[in-house]
Amino acid sequence: MSKLPNVGTSIFTMMSQMANECNAINLSQGFPNFPVDKRLTDIVARLASENVHQYTPMSGFPPLLEKIAKLTQHSYQRVVKTKDEILITAGATEGIFATIQALVNANNEVIILDPSYDCYEAPILLSNAKPIRVALNNDFTPNWKKIKEATNENTKLIIINNPHNPTGKTWTKNDFVQLEKLVDSFPNLIVLSDEVYEYITFEEAHISIHHRPKLWNRSISVSSFGKSFHITGWKIGYVIAPEYLMTEIKKVHQFLVFSVNSISQVAISEYLDIVDVQSLGSFYQQKRDFFRNLLKETKLELLPCEGTYFQVASYANISNKDDLTFAKQLVTEIGVATIPISSFYANGTATKCIRFCFAKDDTTLIQAAERLMKL
Ligand code: PMP
Ligand code: GLN
Repeated sequence: MSKLPNVGTSIFTMMSQMANECNAINLSQGFPNFPVDKRLTDIVARLASENVHQYTPMSGFPPLLEKIAKLTQHSYQRVVKTKDEILITAGATEGIFATIQALVNANNEVIILDPSYDCYEAPILLSNAKPIRVALNNDFTPNWKKIKEATNENTKLIIINNPHNPTGKTWTKNDFVQLEKLVDSFPNLIVLSDEVYEYITFEEAHISIHHRPKLWNRSISVSSFGKSFHITGWKIGYVIAPEYLMTEIKKVHQFLVFSVNSISQVAISEYLDIVDVQSLGSFYQQKRDFFRNLLKETKLELLPCEGTYFQVASYANISNKDDLTFAKQLVTEIGVATIPISSFYANGTATKCIRFCFAKDDTTLIQAAERLMKL
């Protein structure tokens, strides 16, 4: 009997595959199509002939752990213990999986805020625990009344994602005050903060759980070099957690992958000395503004985008079709692949919205917009 009977091929794989088959412009799965920084590829090319090909220590290449501690201090003014509070993971996905497997017991409940990214539920189910879906408000802000109602003594984790995939929404200070109150009221509750788009925010600076000392002892953050350095295929990221939680997370990591591939750890640790990760926000803000301007000429209605490299648009005044049907039609008839927003809801909540990834070169975005003009 299947342990995950409702899990099938992900919408990201499905839409990317359709895009390839139909020779469509792929703005579905989130990945950049422009070249990676040559300084990084030069480092990799040099390292290939150096002695960096064997296992690193289980929790990560020590100089990389140090650079992450420095980055965390620089970005968030938080001092973390290099050896005990940081773990290099095979992408944020493995960090999230290891965290949930390590901390969630059978019959515990875990709160997921919908719409949500797809990798949270499976590890919860594999722990024989219960995902509790709480809908965000219509403007995709957290609904604190509903969250409080859904939390109880048996709630082990609340998973938050800020900046948010797919909506591009970011959390306010008040959201964190509410979260702190919730954590205060429920002594067993831990926060799993998915911050993979932490360096991709626009008008407002990112607020991290690392800015909130009251949460430090009760939360885990997950980061992804894939997003921050345009290298999604490298599958490398990291988790920061207080030592008592990290000890448990490392036990799972040890037997899931043991350690992450050495060459990318060494390359990133060198690259962190020369890259300015803080400039990522303005880089993507230009792309966002460029793409939004192009889409103004279409009949699509654009929702606000405060962070991430995703733009959500409503097609309600173009078609009555459900969003999956509409997205498939967009690929086959218009030649542009997107992600239907209903796929980010556990119960497939109907929406008339699709998600575009604008982490693409200008030519791709212009060509996509030209095609979308035909709608
Ligand atoms: N969380 C969110 C919100 C994401 O969008 C992604 C990747 N798209 C991940 C986690 C996984 O990141 P990684 O590729 O580093 O595993
Ligand atoms: N995170 C990517 C997205 O949201 C998808 C990654 C994947 O395909 N697993 O598009």
